[in-house]
Amino acid sequence: MHESCGVFGIFAPGIDIARIIFYALFALQHRGQESAGIAVANGGDIKSHTAMGLVSQAFAENDLALLRGRIGIGHNRYSTTGSTKLTNAQPVIAKSEELTIALAHNGNIVNAKSLHDELEGRGYSFYSTTDSEIIANLILASPAKKLEEKIEYAMRRLQGVYSLTILTKDKLIGVRDPLGVRPLCLGSIDGGWAIASETCALDHIGADYVREVEPGEIIVIDGEGVRSFKGKGGKRALCIFEYIYFARPDSVIEGKLLYQARLAMGEMLAQEYPVDADLVMGIPDSATAAGIGYSNASGIPYCEGLLKNRYVGRTFIEPDQRIRELGVQLKFNPLSRMISGKRLVVVDDSIVRGTTTPRVVSLLKKAGAAEVHLRICAPPIRYPCFFGVDMATQWELIAARKTIPEIRDFLNVDSLGYLSLDGLIRAVGLPRETFCLACFNGEYPIPVQIGMDKLALEASLKGELSESKV
Ligand code: SF4
Repeated sequence: MHESCGVFGIFAPGIDIARIIFYALFALQHRGQESAGIAVANGGDIKSHTAMGLVSQAFAENDLALLRGRIGIGHNRYSTTGSTKLTNAQPVIAKSEELTIALAHNGNIVNAKSLHDELEGRGYSFYSTTDSEIIANLILASPAKKLEEKIEYAMRRLQGVYSLTILTKDKLIGVRDPLGVRPLCLGSIDGGWAIASETCALDHIGADYVREVEPGEIIVIDGEGVRSFKGKGGKRALCIFEYIYFARPDSVIEGKLLYQARLAMGEMLAQEYPVDADLVMGIPDSATAAGIGYSNASGIPYCEGLLKNRYVGRTFIEPDQRIRELGVQLKFNPLSRMISGKRLVVVDDSIVRGTTTPRVVSLLKKAGAAEVHLRICAPPIRYPCFFGVDMATQWELIAARKTIPEIRDFLNVDSLGYLSLDGLIRAVGLPRETFCLACFNGEYPIPVQIGMDKLALEASLKGELSESKV
């Protein structure tokens, strides 16, 4: 399962911002590894550099040296909309006679096709196949004069999920969709400001966390300071998978440290599904903390049963048969001498299609594990995600097609326990109404009929924008 992109932005006169953005993108690498890009401005033209691959592959010293500016944005892409090619790398640049903007997007726009056709009919050109370029052109197409009003116009027309950083020649803007599905936070750095998908990016560049960008909020940062424009508060739908899997364990979202939330998921699993066993292990890296939590609560010792080869990237676009067959073996190596003959509790973050888990179980059994008791930090995923998570269609979801005993047998494990929805929410420690839980319970935060109900989204945006200082 993959999420779709990391975004970053900085307004910091006097700082070498290209290098700062580079390191921020480095910290957000887990959110997308397909391409990376940086755009900067210095009161005049916008300069940008985008390339395929990891951040470390995308930028050479010379590329960064050419990106001189005092405002900039950056993006790591994992493609959900649009194919794998350089023209789809972000930030996207869009120009009209009066305005040039660069835009970095995390999310997924559901009414992209109709907006694309409308904008094309009005003479706007598209150079990529991403929904992000549609957002950028929609902002330019607004009849409003002020930038924040142009963005608000675009927000009224957009149906879907978006956390954005936007750059003009003299402004940095952060925008979060009215449901707040993807995270976005504001930080301060040496008299300047930064906006990032996750707090871990702020930590690595020496910025201080200030607060979350609120759902439906537009934050405009320029030489006059920071201004916030908010619609009326409405329904919230933060993706709970940020806590289970997507975000880094050292990030804080809504005041909750992800590592602690994951520890608590493991503790809850130990309460809900106790078992007699010799060792507990978490599948690295996303379930490591939950594995430790299970161990703490059960008193069963923790062991690193699988070592992860962290530097395996997407090396071959079309791997040959032998490489394909190696599969998870390329990624994980079991510590046979530690687990041989042992009854293992194996904690994992989630099961989507159920294609990878049997291979991991087989790896552990080949390494001598006497029993494998699988514990999952999420309830069964029975419904697809329409909000930008590249998950699966409903018929591909194993829990939509099989009962839990059938899944246990299919995975070839000795027992299987999925964390209950109540247990998951208690582990995160925020009110249930905070979250999107749709892939577990089918209750989508906006009425979806595969598409979304435009009226419902607009209802949460209703009301005049109110301006306030941050
Ligand atoms: S449907 Fe699931 S994966 Fe998608 S946003 Fe909601 S909670 Fe996240």
